[in-house]
Amino acid sequence: MSEVIIKTENLGYTYVDSLDDDIVKVDQSPALRGVSLEIKRGEYVAVLGHNGSGKSTFAKLINMILTPTVGKIYIDGVDITGDDFTEEDVFDIRRKVGMVFQNPDNQLVATVVEEDVAFGPENLGLPREEIRQRVDSALSTVGMTEYIKHAPHKLSGGQKQRVAIAGIIAMKPEIIIFDESTAMLDPQGRAEVVEIMERLNKEEGITVLNITHYMDEAARADRVVVINDGELIIDSTAREVFKNVELLHSVGLEATQGAELIAALSGCGADISGESLTLDETVETIANYILRKK
Ligand code: ADP
Ligand code: MG
Repeated sequence: MSEVIIKTENLGYTYVDSLDDDIVKVDQSPALRGVSLEIKRGEYVAVLGHNGSGKSTFAKLINMILTPTVGKIYIDGVDITGDDFTEEDVFDIRRKVGMVFQNPDNQLVATVVEEDVAFGPENLGLPREEIRQRVDSALSTVGMTEYIKHAPHKLSGGQKQRVAIAGIIAMKPEIIIFDESTAMLDPQGRAEVVEIMERLNKEEGITVLNITHYMDEAARADRVVVINDGELIIDSTAREVFKNVELLHSVGLEATQGAELIAALSGCGADISGESLTLDETVETIANYILRKK
């Protein structure tokens, strides 16, 4: 077991053909370039970047859906970009690195919840007893046990996404990449999925990469990386990243609401400073400012 669970060196990818019917004209400039990054086992990392910046491409490279044009990727110390990497090894990496996508409808394959969750473990060729145990445990982890016999298509968006996550957990992955997995959910569904993400990280020790547009989600991660036009431009703690509101704006992103508010007040000439990562901190910073003024 390697302490660094994901390592990339000068990673780059250029789409030559469109793999997606929706993309007619292929932009031949690199979608990702020179990304060197190390992620430790058990880290909770948020990945930010405006649309088209290369976040999904990065995720698909880590999961071996795509093969790098240049550069190296090591998963748990194993070079997955080496020439001696076999089909069998690819299967192993896909089991180790789970992916949860944006649209839950595209991830559910069966007509009954338990069959859907069992799909992955069945493909691993596990004994029936083991599959049963994994399905029950995964559904319990995502709080969907009572829906075990339900039809996935009748569930809410948040519930569907939780079933999709259960299907991933049942594979016992070491890393889970959430690629905008909360983007299509209502606020309650989103909160449920974020709560599961955090529990999987804190309690099960799973390394979590959360690709998101929601800054309140990113603010909860241990670490925030920002990809801009295919390049890794920021890699720091959430606290540090959200302090730099101007830099975030310059790459088409916003900071947290708290940080935006403090920056706006400061922009209006208020001599205000202090922490603003959480709501409580923002309130305290503003209260201190007001009390000082009196
Ligand atoms: P993000 O996930 O940050 O929105 P992507 O990784 O999806 O960004 O896209 C990065 C770049 O690669 C964009 O310019 C996009 O148009 C291009 N791209 C993404 N998917 C494909 C594809 N299947 N075929 C061709 N080009 C693609
Ligand atoms: Mg994307």
